Amino acid sequence: MYSKLDNQGNLITGTTVILVVSLFLIVIFVINSINYIESENIDSIESDNFRYILQDYRSNLEQLGRDSIAEETEKLYHAHFIHDSRGDIKKILNNKLKDVNAEYKKKYGVDIRSEVISVESTDSPWKVLFKVRIKADKDSQQFDGVLESNSSIEGLKDPLPYAKLPKLRYNIQHEGDTIYYFQSLSQYLRQNNVESYNSYLLATAPLTIKKCPYDPYIHHGDGDTLKECLKRGYFHESADGSCYLCRLDGKGVCPHYGMEVFIQTHTLSDNETVSCSDHVVFHDHYPGRKLNSGINSLILDDSHAKKYGLVHDG
Ligand SMILES: [Zn+2]
Ligand SMILES: [Zn+2]
Repeated sequence: MYSKLDNQGNLITGTTVILVVSLFLIVIFVINSINYIESENIDSIESDNFRYILQDYRSNLEQLGRDSIAEETEKLYHAHFIHDSRGDIKKILNNKLKDVNAEYKKKYGVDIRSEVISVESTDSPWKVLFKVRIKADKDSQQFDGVLESNSSIEGLKDPLPYAKLPKLRYNIQHEGDTIYYFQSLSQYLRQNNVESYNSYLLATAPLTIKKCPYDPYIHHGDGDTLKECLKRGYFHESADGSCYLCRLDGKGVCPHYGMEVFIQTHTLSDNETVSCSDHVVFHDHYPGRKLNSGINSLILDDSHAKKYGLVHDG
């Protein structure tokens, strides 16, 4: 008798949970599709003129977003600290949009109110997604929707070195397209109890983000591929490395799909020290060994060597 009641109770609880979860999913779906429809809606606006204005606005977002990220990165290069890069970039872009909205009013006679909703990492480490809520009025026409825009971070400075080794405390510099760590990186590694930290004295790394074209990466062991990759200072996709936005916040690793770059050693005191992929140097700290590639500046662990098709001595 009691157990029958219990079963009924469980059944009711179970059904309620399923109902609540389904309702929740439906709400999320509806909200997403509203945003989606709104963002797509521009192209179905009947008035050619109004549609053109909004399309123009949407295409400007890409460059404005990129400029906003670049401004945030410059803070690190001018010895400022960053705590919430996404929040800061939102503010920077909101300010830029105020000017843009005034310009559109003057140029097209359209009233635009805008609010940056989010700045997000995407499933490509080379892109940042902006979502901007727009309310536009022109004559009797109205638009109320969310515009989405992907901004490329290629060609921007890598924020991680200066976020990890702030200029106020460490001797780190850059010239041309190279970051010169001087004593900073070996100091940092010693503070983090990494052995053979001296190998990273005078280490160097590329300054700007450039996506490595030698894809699949396993071919880095072929011919002069690795040499070329190092010469050009390419960055690589990496599930373990951090994304651009998290790099701004000084994180060597993060939950998003990210990137990694080789930090080159020039004062190898030992054949073994921390592996030279930047997320290992700045976060994971596991050891690697010198490569058997004629290139003496790379220290890699087995799994990174495998990823790039490179072999170790002995
Ligand atoms: Zn490469
Ligand atoms: Zn991230």
